[in-house]
Amino acid sequence: MFDLKKCELCPRRCGVNRYERAGRCRAGAQIRIARAALHFWEEPPLSGTGGSGTVFFCGCSLGCVYCQNRQISRGGVGRVVSTRELAEIYLRLERQGAHNINLVTPTHYAPAVVESAGLYRSAGGGLPVVYNTGGYERPEVIQALRGTVDIYLTDLKYAESATAARYSGAADYPERARTALQEMVQTVGPPVFDGAGLLRRGVIVRLLVLPGSEHEAMMNLGYLWRTYGETVLLSLMNQYTPVGDDLPPELRAPLPAAAYQTVVDYARRLGWEKAYIQEGETAKESFIPPFCSDQE
Ligand code: SF4
Repeated sequence: MFDLKKCELCPRRCGVNRYERAGRCRAGAQIRIARAALHFWEEPPLSGTGGSGTVFFCGCSLGCVYCQNRQISRGGVGRVVSTRELAEIYLRLERQGAHNINLVTPTHYAPAVVESAGLYRSAGGGLPVVYNTGGYERPEVIQALRGTVDIYLTDLKYAESATAARYSGAADYPERARTALQEMVQTVGPPVFDGAGLLRRGVIVRLLVLPGSEHEAMMNLGYLWRTYGETVLLSLMNQYTPVGDDLPPELRAPLPAAAYQTVVDYARRLGWEKAYIQEGETAKESFIPPFCSDQE
């Protein structure tokens, strides 16, 4: 499972020897990170007042056409680090006041996640580890992360295979993401908060509403509510920002406010009493805008 000489870490299952060449994720065997810093624009129980201790890994196994972080996911930016250096970064973030260690796009480095988190905890690190993923995961890998990951922050991007194929070259995304989510919920269980309202364990599902795909967001909302109810936390995102010259026509403008509101209203009608929603013209201001709690 964790053998980089024949990598099958994600559902792409390239089978490449990453010591010799990069796979579809553009990652070789060396761990490459683009940024490690406190981050204040995740959902409130992650960012709190001290910030989330984010580490952005380079490369991505999904490679969405509309990626908002394409310099990191596709480019050769970043620096190489060892697992020991990663653990030291986690400890530094903890000393800086982070509420958690937030590993962004970590799938293709899952073995390094296990090893670095083990070193971090052996050195006295005590923060929850957040696995911040696009959701395109193998359940076997999620099982292997049991005991390492405390919080899953996962996308549920598409409900239809045709859209997943068109935007991410992954027609199997809807099925894969739902299977992986089931494993995540089984692994870490329902949400657990501390006395300050910070998340210690659990799953947050992010639904980024794409222009023209509101119906898919609503299909996924229905699925989530029927399957998990409030066993998972819901984050509805309107921050889609057109980036790049190669976008399909329907993705060349931000999401209309009314379309986002339709999805929020649908979540309420289904029965969600709490969700994280985004307000204002966030798409014009920032790729990663502030969050606010809805109905809390
Ligand atoms: S992690 Fe990368 S190399 Fe491994 S199977 Fe996925 S895309 Fe291929």
